[in-house]
Amino acid sequence: MRYNVAQLLKDQTGSARSYELNEDLDGPAPLEGLVRGQVWLLRTHHGILVRAEAETPLAVTCSRCLANFAAPVGLTVEEEFFPVIDVDTGRGVPMPEGVDEDANGEFRIDANHTLDLTEMLRQCMITATPMKPLCQPQCRGLCLECGANLNSLKSEACGCDVVPRDPRWGALAELLQQKRV
Ligand SMILES: [Zn+2]
Ligand SMILES: [Zn+2]
Repeated sequence: MRYNVAQLLKDQTGSARSYELNEDLDGPAPLEGLVRGQVWLLRTHHGILVRAEAETPLAVTCSRCLANFAAPVGLTVEEEFFPVIDVDTGRGVPMPEGVDEDANGEFRIDANHTLDLTEMLRQCMITATPMKPLCQPQCRGLCLECGANLNSLKSEACGCDVVPRDPRWGALAELLQQKRV
């Protein structure tokens, strides 16, 4: 995901390029496929504005039944990259005024005029990773008693004397249990 943008940097403000994304990437979670989508590069006054729209299947674990599955996540990100050297003079270029060096410092176009999207997409993937993934909206989770995966059972329950429910209702289940005794 590295692009040589020497020519684009020489072009006038407003010039643009577009590339197809079809990449393998080391993300926060293993990928179940490629990152596919589109990237647009736009020459700005001080650098290059990058916009990427992509989708990739992330390998995640269901938060209810613990099954592993591939969750498709959408990635949309926009960042401006600034060159470290001037493409015409070869001299070093400071960050433009008003740009937070700490926040934007990693989004630089290196001395070889290479623009690397890897870190930007990796960060976007972290944000896009679902916090509580579900293998299916109606996932029935695990039996609290025997641990059976209730999705894979043909009958309604595993035979245990508990009502299958979301583990988060555990405290309530205990209260009901006490009432019954
Ligand atoms: Zn599940
Ligand atoms: Zn059970």
